[in-house]
Amino acid sequence: MHLEDVLYDVAIIGSGPAGYTAAIRGGQLGLKVALIEADNVLGGTCLHVGCIPTKALLFNAEIWDHLKHAPDYGIAGIGTPQLDWAAVQKRKTAIVNKHTKGLEFLMKKNKVTVVSGYGRLTGPAKDGIHNVPAESSNSRPKTSSWLPAQRRARSSASSPTTASLPTSRSSRFPNRPSRSS
Ligand SMILES: Cc1cc2nc3c(=O)[nH]c(=O)nc-3n(C[C@H](O)[C@H](O)[C@H](O)COP(=O)(O)OP(=O)(O)OC[C@H]3O[C@@H](n4cnc5c(N)ncnc54)[C@H](O)[C@@H]3O)c2cc1C
Repeated sequence: MHLEDVLYDVAIIGSGPAGYTAAIRGGQLGLKVALIEADNVLGGTCLHVGCIPTKALLFNAEIWDHLKHAPDYGIAGIGTPQLDWAAVQKRKTAIVNKHTKGLEFLMKKNKVTVVSGYGRLTGPAKDGIHNVPAESSNSRPKTSSWLPAQRRARSSASSPTTASLPTSRSSRFPNRPSRSS
């Protein structure tokens, strides 16, 4: 079956924290969700260059600083600490990879279809359906998959403007819990 043959309830562009949390929640609510990612890994800035790798490296820096000042903390016999930069990088990469695999698992668990490609919002819905092209950046000539979706979302990093999401019609989503409950 081609992607084009499936009508998604939601197409999300970008698999950073904004995108993957929306995708997981959509799956939990019983929606048919497509998550479009231009990069070859899930997780976005936060997982691959931002929050996670920087905090892993900062922890190394903290330990290094403590070791250099060990006598100040009443710890003797450390000698001269040596920094193994390759080991520092290896630890950081292992943490990032572990979380990337965790995200892949969560997408499967919540039945989210991950689409590799560069997604675009092309205009208003026709008959209530948005067509969201996902263009592969790895193939020449570029190929496009058109994902029919009843509604679409994108992560905040793609643009400072917020995509408007049509208000939900609960009859379409019988599994959606009532907000008042
Ligand atoms: C160095 C650094 C350190 C940070 N540390 C922290 C921290 O400690 N705590 C914290 O809360 N925040 C931190 N942040 C901020 C955090 O990374 C961002 O707030 C967060 O990543 C934003 O999430 P997002 O999903 O909106 O976008 P992103 O994480 O940027 O994800 C966007 C994703 O969308 C994809 N994409 C974009 N356009 C398209 C398209 N058209 N088609 C398909 N895919 C597309 C991108 O490839 C990317 O994977 C840090 C940022 C940096 C740079």
